[in-house]
Amino acid sequence: MYELYNKTWKQIEEIDKSKSILFVTMAPIEEHSLHLPLGTDVYEGEYWIKETIKLIELESPDIICCKLPAFPIASAGIKGLYGCIHFKPKTTYHVALELLESIVHWDFSNIIVVASHGDPIHQIAVEKACKKINKKYGTCAISPMGAFFSANELGINLNLPIEIKNIEKNAENDFHAGWIETSCMLDIKRNLVSDCYKSLPDTKIAEKDMISAKKQRKAMGEYGHLGYPALSDKSIGKSLNLNTAQYLSMVSIKFFNRKDYTVYMFHSLYKLPLMHLRFL
Ligand SMILES: [Zn+2]
Repeated sequence: MYELYNKTWKQIEEIDKSKSILFVTMAPIEEHSLHLPLGTDVYEGEYWIKETIKLIELESPDIICCKLPAFPIASAGIKGLYGCIHFKPKTTYHVALELLESIVHWDFSNIIVVASHGDPIHQIAVEKACKKINKKYGTCAISPMGAFFSANELGINLNLPIEIKNIEKNAENDFHAGWIETSCMLDIKRNLVSDCYKSLPDTKIAEKDMISAKKQRKAMGEYGHLGYPALSDKSIGKSLNLNTAQYLSMVSIKFFNRKDYTVYMFHSLYKLPLMHLRFL
């Protein structure tokens, strides 16, 4: 694996880009309730990339995996809590576009953006940038996390292990800093997870209310999460992180081979004209 941040321009020139996949995270610095750090989404994206690269190197050792440092730039609806740095959807779109354009000029043609933050508007901003760059330079970039987060709606089977499906049944709509993210972080960075997660109350919100920042804020109460942090568990986190890495490596290899990858290019909400108004 090449950490491009640590290379010289000459070393980058020498990489065989036709055999390479380049990964980059785009995720926010954002509050994650009382028990997780602001960097949670960035830690997740970086960890998923690391694990994805391990899987690709095992399955397809001829592929050269490269990565850039994370860009903590993202859009989200949460307001009114300390620690959130969010950008307008238009800004995220332009940053993603200019980031991709720079990389394309280094001749990389297999770029995977890991937008490790579930807000659909963030997903759509990055997907829009990929679409634009693909139109301009020929297919070279994909942002597959939107399809991951809306897999049910798109009919994509993530092959989730049974223990995760069982928790999901009783603890659905775990949107933010709940059992999913807390479990992932227990596996990624245990030392950054406060033990108070064990006694945090469940906070509930209907999926349809997630488009309202006001309703989100109300449901978060004095905490900052939406979901069930008390149900978190490190082994569940391991399983969730592995599942995400398996998904990303599967999509990355399909994209590298330009085979059956288009279903992973857009969030299920991308097709709604309403979701594109904020980019005008
Ligand atoms: Zn998060």
